Parts: sequence; C-alpha cells; structure tokens
Amino acid sequence: MRARRVRGKFGVSIDSLSRARGTAMTQSAEQEPKGVKHIVIVGGGFAGLHCARKVAADPNVRVTLLDKNNYQQFQPLLYQVATALLAPSNIAFNLRVALKSYPNVDIKMTEVVSVDLKSRTVQTSHGERYQGDFLVLAAGAQANFFDTPGAEQYSYPLYSLHDAERLRSRLLAMLESADRDQTLIEKGALNFVIVGAGPTGTETAGAFADLVHGWKKKQGHARIYQDLSFGQAQIFLVDGGHAVLSAFSPSAQAYAAKKLAGRGVQIRLGTRVKEAGSGHVTLSDGTRIPTHTVIWAGGLKASSLSSNLGIQTGHGGRIDVQGDLTVPGLTGVYALGDFANIAGEDGQPLPQLGSVAEQSGKWCARNIQLDIAGKPRVPFQYLDKGIMAMIGRNAAVAEVGKNRHELEGAVAFAAWLGVHAALLTSTHAKIEAFMEWAWAYFGGSLEAVILDRPEELQVDWNDQDEVKAPNN
Ligand SMILES: Cc1cc2nc3c(=O)[nH]c(=O)nc-3n(C[C@H](O)[C@H](O)[C@H](O)COP(=O)(O)OP(=O)(O)OC[C@H]3O[C@@H](n4cnc5c(N)ncnc54)[C@H](O)[C@@H]3O)c2cc1C
Repeated sequence: MRARRVRGKFGVSIDSLSRARGTAMTQSAEQEPKGVKHIVIVGGGFAGLHCARKVAADPNVRVTLLDKNNYQQFQPLLYQVATALLAPSNIAFNLRVALKSYPNVDIKMTEVVSVDLKSRTVQTSHGERYQGDFLVLAAGAQANFFDTPGAEQYSYPLYSLHDAERLRSRLLAMLESADRDQTLIEKGALNFVIVGAGPTGTETAGAFADLVHGWKKKQGHARIYQDLSFGQAQIFLVDGGHAVLSAFSPSAQAYAAKKLAGRGVQIRLGTRVKEAGSGHVTLSDGTRIPTHTVIWAGGLKASSLSSNLGIQTGHGGRIDVQGDLTVPGLTGVYALGDFANIAGEDGQPLPQLGSVAEQSGKWCARNIQLDIAGKPRVPFQYLDKGIMAMIGRNAAVAEVGKNRHELEGAVAFAAWLGVHAALLTSTHAKIEAFMEWAWAYFGGSLEAVILDRPEELQVDWNDQDEVKAPNN
C-alpha cells in the first residue's frame, strides 16, 4: 500500500500512512515550500525561547520548538516556590502563550530522546522525528550528584518547578510531622541541610532562615503551629570550598557569610557531604546530621540528552561549541545556554547563567539568519551585566557590570527584586511577584500553603544504615 501525503500547516508534507499506523513520523526540511527554512529547537528555556522569538521574526522560517514541558520555568526563583514565597504560576509561563505572536512557531510538548546530528534529526519519546535545516540544542541542565552515595535517592535537587514543589511539600510535611509528634525533632524533622554554597544554596539557606525567624517571632493567636518550637530548627549550609558565593568578591563573600550566620545558618565550609541516607547525612569530617530534608544545590551537568548525542562532550557533559555557537564538524547545528560550554573572552567557559543563555539564544538566531543569507557567522560576544544573590530580607549582594561595581544590603536587595521582576516573562507575573514579595516583606508567610503531596509525609523515621558507594 502506498503512503498518501497530506499538506499540513506551511505546506509541510506529512506521511499520513505513518500517522494512521501510529508509527514514527518525520517532519522533514526537504518538504518545505521553496525558500522556507525549518529550524528545530530542543528546549524552551531562556536560550531556546529567545532564539525562537528572534529567528521567527523572519516569515521565511518555520520553527518547531520541542520541550518536555509546556512551560518555561524561571529557575532563579525556584527557591522562592520551595519556601512558599511565590506560587508556581508566578515563575512558570506557558510556551504557547509566550510565542502566540509567532504563527510560524509550532510547539510540541514531547521529550527528545536521541539526536542524529549529521542529518539534524531528533527523535522523541513518542516516536516522532523532526528534521531541520538547522538544529538548535538548548536542553539545559540537571543536578550533578558527583556520585555521592545516596544523594540522588535521598536528596531534594532544586533545578525544576517539579523539584521546587516537591521540596515545598517536604518542608510542610516536616512541620506537620514535628507538630504532631515532637519526638521527631530529635530524629531530624526540623534539620534542613543545604548542599552547595553557590547562589542557589545561599539563597535557599537565607530563605529558610527568614522563614524560621518569622515563625519564631509569632506568638499567641499568630502562632499557627501551636506545638512547634521553631527554636529547635537548624539550617546547615555545607560546601567543600572555602567560601560562600565563591564567584563573588571576598567582601561580598564575607558579607553573605555574616548575614547567614546572623540568621542562625550553620555554615560548614571545607566540608563535603560524604553520604546521604533516609534520615541523615554524613559529612567528610565525620559529622552525622539527622535530617529528612537534604537540599542539593551542589552542582550542574548537561541534561540527560547530552549522553545520547553520539559525540564526545566536554566538561559537565556540555557540548564544546565554537565561537559562533555551532558544534564543530557539523553543518547547521548549534548548542546554547546550559547545554553548551561557550568560551568567554578569556577562553574559559562562561558560567551557567540566565543572561548567558538568553544572549546566546538571540545570537544563535542572528547567526542562523546570516547562514540563510549566505553571509559569514559572527562570533558570540557576551555582555556581562554582573551577578547578584539574595541573602534574605534586606540583605543581598550585587556586582554590577563587567567592572563588578559592588552593592550590598538594602540597595542590593531592592536591585535584586527589580532585576528579577523585570526578567519575568509577562506583566501579570511581574505584578503578582511584587505583590507576593510585598506581602512577605510586611510579615506574611506560608500560613495559607497547603500540603498537596501527602506522599512527602511518608517518612522512614527509623534511619537506615549508611549508604555505601557502589564499589565499596
Ligand atoms: C535554582 C537556580 C537558580 C538560578 N539562579 C540564577 C540567577 O539568579 N541568575 C542567573 O542569571 N541564572 C540563574 N540560574 C541559571 C539559569 O536559570 C540557567 O542558566 C538558565 O535557565 C539556562 O537556560 P537554558 O535555556 O540553557 O536551560 P533551561 O532554562 O533549563 O531550559 C531547558 C529546557 O529544555 C527542556 N528540556 C530538557 N531536556 C529536554 C528533552 N530531552 N526534550 C525536550 N525538552 C527538554 C526543559 O524542559 C527546559 O524547558 C539559576 C539556576 C537554577 C537551577
């Protein structure tokens, strides 16, 4: 029986026989109307979304954006969802809405499982194939547990909306458990261990400390957990390095450490997590902390797709790209954002930052346009606007611009709020975020938050033995 071909949107030829049989179907660049170029983008995060928007401004391209979620998540604010300062809807944005002004962008919610780089064809977990004149790989990052025994099984990474919601539920589950049975405090119900003192770990530690501080101050009718003694809560920030916020200046590091310590955070530097179990962590100095909430902010590697590319990847499983963001030895293949090692001016890879991802996305779109026009591509130039981290209420550090002009305290706190609100995708989200921040600033807290994942209450309070490394 011969396959019948049908014409879809933009004249795309679809193999209707394959569709009828429910087998894999290929959307191929060869089937485009004359002059129309097909661009396949994997990942609708900072990099993929900005690339799609810019490249789709040209009506002579057709973009297929593939993402395993139907939303873009704003990772810098995940810790605020985990600590119930913001709602998930404040930091995640429907991709279809974000791209609704671009009729030449087609979004498919599906996971890409493998890639044939030579033919620029990707295959999804549902069996479809998409082939483009250009392929843009922007699949982001995932937690790197560095083979720490028990870490993947027992800790709470903080790299996705799902992670943040799960952690929030675990936090609430610990409060409910300790309120119900105070002997569980001895078993670590109110011990929170944060692994990694980079921006994510530091911001999370500060937010947990502010929460505990807020609860401690509440008395009488304002107390919502009648039987909980928040004085017994302990927050640990553990890092193998020798400074909090190692990417910042020594004075910003000292400021952050002082502010965290002042909020009761116990900082353990020069100390690694050796092993995590069902009810404890063991540190490299031999300390064993009873806990059921280990938050993993200890490192990143490229998302799992990077191991199915059939090429040698670089540091962190990321693709080492050329100056123009293309993948060496291939035609029309780009890698961006957290999925790529992009060299900065000094030849060292740029950090995994939203600004690097966003700028690389836009630059890639520009180079694709140059490719289409038959002109030479332009090497990527990163505009360094600086770095900032929130420590907690009225406390933040910022190093502005390439020359790193330093700000601390309330000024940096206000700058942090302004910059992060401005980066949110919609006006609605910006207004809502400001309202929530104002509410929290003037004393509101997670009182109204519901525990909607009861599975987080299922805790093994009788701690198991140490988890052994695989080859021990
Ligand atoms: C907790 C946290 C805090 C941060 N704070 C800051 C900060 O304050 N400032 C800053 O500049 N940066 C910050 N960052 C870094 C910043 O968020 C990232 O650098 C940025 O999100 C990278 O963008 P990206 O587009 O490369 O990846 P992402 O934004 O992660 O997007 C990747 C997309 O790919 C999709 N995807 C992955 N695999 C597949 C697949 N196989 N198939 C289909 N889709 C797939 C994902 O669903 C996701 O939508 C933070 C990161 C984290 C985790």
